[in-house]
Amino acid sequence: MSTPLTGQVALVTGAGRGIGRACALHLARLGARVAVSDLNLNSAAEFGEKLSAPTVVDECLAYGTEATGIEADLTMRNEAEDAVRTTVAVLGGLDILVNCAGGTAASPGNAPQDEGGSQPLDTRASRMPEDHYRQQLSGNLTTTVFTCQAAAAVMRERGRGRIVNISSQAATRVHPSGRLAAYSIAKAATSHYTRVLAAELGPDGIRVNAIAPGFIVTHRTVVQLGSGFESWRDATAAHVPLRRIGTPEDVAKVTEFLVSEQSAYITGQVITVCGGGSLSGVDRA
Ligand code: NAD
Repeated sequence: MSTPLTGQVALVTGAGRGIGRACALHLARLGARVAVSDLNLNSAAEFGEKLSAPTVVDECLAYGTEATGIEADLTMRNEAEDAVRTTVAVLGGLDILVNCAGGTAASPGNAPQDEGGSQPLDTRASRMPEDHYRQQLSGNLTTTVFTCQAAAAVMRERGRGRIVNISSQAATRVHPSGRLAAYSIAKAATSHYTRVLAAELGPDGIRVNAIAPGFIVTHRTVVQLGSGFESWRDATAAHVPLRRIGTPEDVAKVTEFLVSEQSAYITGQVITVCGGGSLSGVDRA
């Protein structure tokens, strides 16, 4: 396999499991030196996600590149700044930032919620509890803003950089019940933050784009949907034009495009990765 990202350094947040882990491994496979950052570097264990080595960092190292792990709560500005500082100090720079930290269960102690099934909380727009609202905004939006700000300072000095923020179809689509309101508005803000940041940083040689995935199956979603997983998957896939649910690797491959020279003239865009599900209205993840 070619390694076009050899010599480049990537920081991937939320990389302990799921989509973030897939992005970290994909960039390592392409030759990047990777900083794996997460609130909990062992978060894969929470939902039984199997690793091919003891840690995600070890999995990256297995591709023959350099890697380091950074445990950080990126809702805290100082921890986001430390994560960027450590990346630069340990891996020698920062060329690529991929912000995956977030999700509908974006902090410890928050009751797990799936993106396609039952909801233990009333997450509707007029009723969502205040702590849930604040937690979803900080876990999805603030993490992105603080990490982008810290990374932009370094990238500006270097005169180049690529940032990919993970938004969601929930940013533009509305569930008829109004549920997942806080998550949806946090992701809508993430998409628009991506656009305004791109306008600011373009003259500095920094490109900023976002990916808005539809339903992506991870170990977390399988565990959270339990015995209903297969029927949910089959029913949902039947309405997706490509007739399957997305995988974390589907998102990782578009991330590859957005950090490569193939997308050299693209910035401020939100790329939908949903198998066409947005066309038929099934994808609000
Ligand atoms: P996940 O919940 O399985 O993983 C998210 C990771 O982020 C976890 O390891 C968690 O520890 C980490 N994290 C959470 N809060 C953090 C914080 N404050 N600081 C640092 N790390 C933190 O989520 P996933 O399904 O892999 O999704 C990854 C991203 O993609 C999320 O932003 C999510 O909203 C988005 N997304 C997911 C789907 C889907 O169907 N899975 C669809 C659309 C968008």
